Amino acid sequence: MYENLLANVPTDLWIGGKWKKSSDGARFDVIDPATENKITSVASASLDDAKAAVDAASGAFEGWAGRKPRERGEILRKAYEVIVAQSERLAKLITLENGKALSDSRGEVAYAAEFFRWYAEEAVRAIGQVSRAPSSGARIFVHHKPAGVAVLVTPWNFPAAMATRKIGPALAAGCPVVLKPASETPLTMLALMPLLEEAGVPAGVVNVIPSRRSGPVVSAMLHDPRVRVVSFTGSTEVGRKLLHEAADNVVKPAMELGGNAPFIVFEDADIDAAIDGAMIAKMRNMGEACTAANRFYVHEKIHDAFAKKLTDKMSSLKMGNGLDDGVALGPLVNAEGLDKVKELVADAVKKGAKILTGGKAPDGKGYFYPATVLDNVPDGVKMLNEEIFGPVAAIQTFKSEDEVIGRANDTEYGLVAYLYTKDLTRGMRVSEKLDFGMIGLNRGLVSDPAAPFGGTKQSGLGREGAHEGLLEFMETQYVSLTW
Ligand code: NAD
Repeated sequence: MYENLLANVPTDLWIGGKWKKSSDGARFDVIDPATENKITSVASASLDDAKAAVDAASGAFEGWAGRKPRERGEILRKAYEVIVAQSERLAKLITLENGKALSDSRGEVAYAAEFFRWYAEEAVRAIGQVSRAPSSGARIFVHHKPAGVAVLVTPWNFPAAMATRKIGPALAAGCPVVLKPASETPLTMLALMPLLEEAGVPAGVVNVIPSRRSGPVVSAMLHDPRVRVVSFTGSTEVGRKLLHEAADNVVKPAMELGGNAPFIVFEDADIDAAIDGAMIAKMRNMGEACTAANRFYVHEKIHDAFAKKLTDKMSSLKMGNGLDDGVALGPLVNAEGLDKVKELVADAVKKGAKILTGGKAPDGKGYFYPATVLDNVPDGVKMLNEEIFGPVAAIQTFKSEDEVIGRANDTEYGLVAYLYTKDLTRGMRVSEKLDFGMIGLNRGLVSDPAAPFGGTKQSGLGREGAHEGLLEFMETQYVSLTW
């Protein structure tokens, strides 16, 4: 039943420019979250396969790092074009394995491709500097070198973009990579490999090893002295484990972890603009985004108008199979995700939250949960401290600027915060006081390949995108010299 969508989608490991079965023949199933049917199965990498992938990457390092930056850039630019040409096919594949609505998947493919275009341009900008030592008079010559083999580990919520956000800068910098995609969504990356080959990426420079044995496989690679960078996107819980693993060989970490974004609407905000922003910040990817608005703080003077407009918009969204026309809300990715959303809503309602729309999963197959608005959410409910990762908006009110800043910052996370006000002075003043790596000021979307994406506190270390993202894959070397 999935033949058309799966045409030309490989299901083995991509190592050294060849498709390989896993060394012990293990495979695992990929499930369609809209129907709970098996889509296909893919090879599950073993420790031997992980070593073979690092061998291939390491073997490709010198050649790739030695290519002229412009050549690496041209290959990335070609990769951007090839992906754009195949975008509809890739979007359908993302929807099939992740569940998100096709409109979301199309947006993701465009976003994913842009990382290759941006880093095609950054590949030629690893610019160093020369200065004069203040006392000795020696010259200080600083340049950036590719760091070495990079291990990339990505989540299921953006199967294409979270990978290209790492592959783009790694390749621009001159680093070969071994990527372990999420087990829920391995097909998108496997489908991308022939496209990268067509763009001219040499064998061994990008290796992809799906695995059901993520812990041991990634750990083995992080203990291989040839691996110099680990770039991870996923939960804070797993990120913490990988930081421990990376510590043994002092592998350079880049960590994009969880979020708990506040969405603040001041009394002077343009309410319609805030609603539009809220719909993007909350509902992009059905709320399964690290950037998803998790806590709505609305000034008490405009609360009623905001809650009504948000409820109207949320209740108008069509839920269904993401591949069907007009569907804006697909299923969540798996049963665990669905159970977590149900549990968080039940906890909030039990403690006094009022359901304005949604709040009950439908019967039948598929991991569906409706767009839900909860009002009067009391302090102390679980969903204010944990990522909801579903289509549920939790509204609270506030009275003053200082009060809302304190409440917004009262979290272990610091990825992104959103705020709406027509007063730009207030907007900048509040932005500075918010302890988050990114701020959406009168905007519900901050992701952009040209901007440094990343968080403070337990939301991560390092930045992806922009020039900063390139430097995550480079070592700075300084030569002291006299002439
Ligand atoms: P996850 O942490 O469960 O898994 C992420 C990846 O790590 C997957 O490939 C998984 O197979 C792998 N993994 C799991 N256990 C591992 C282990 N012990 N050792 C090595 N690898 C392991 O996260 P998820 O459920 O796939 O994604 C959702 C999470 O990702 C959310 O917390 C979300 O906020 C976060 N996220 C963050 C960003 C960001 O940029 N900050 C972006 C997207 C998602």
